[in-house]
Amino acid sequence: MSIKLEKVVETFYENLEQGKIMGRKCPHCQNVEFPPVYACNECGSLETEWYEISGRAKLHSIVMPAALSSKPEYKNLGKYAYGEVELEEGSRLNAVVRGITKKKRKELQDKLPVNCHASIFQREGGYKTVVFDLDEE
Ligand SMILES: [Zn+2]
Repeated sequence: MSIKLEKVVETFYENLEQGKIMGRKCPHCQNVEFPPVYACNECGSLETEWYEISGRAKLHSIVMPAALSSKPEYKNLGKYAYGEVELEEGSRLNAVVRGITKKKRKELQDKLPVNCHASIFQREGGYKTVVFDLDEE
């Protein structure tokens, strides 16, 4: 891992501690990278800047976690699934989405994409991370 990328990751987690979810925005093509990476994936610019994302997003697909893959640091997360999430700013990522049971997934399957939003989650004994919650209907 390059020193610059380590710095990006460090700043990202420092901001999470303060309740801010940061991506990187490219001043040339306005592309927003989330999770933040140093270079713009659209135009290759290395001059991206910190940008606080709104957290508004759409959930496009849902994958239930395999029982064996349940991670101990997610113990206090409750029911969750993995989903393909598209941020308002345009980035797509695979993320943890809370509150999805097998039953809920069936209900949602025909309604996709549905609105969701980013939340900051305190991992068991560790650092904070970003998860997604479904918007209330
Ligand atoms: Zn760019």
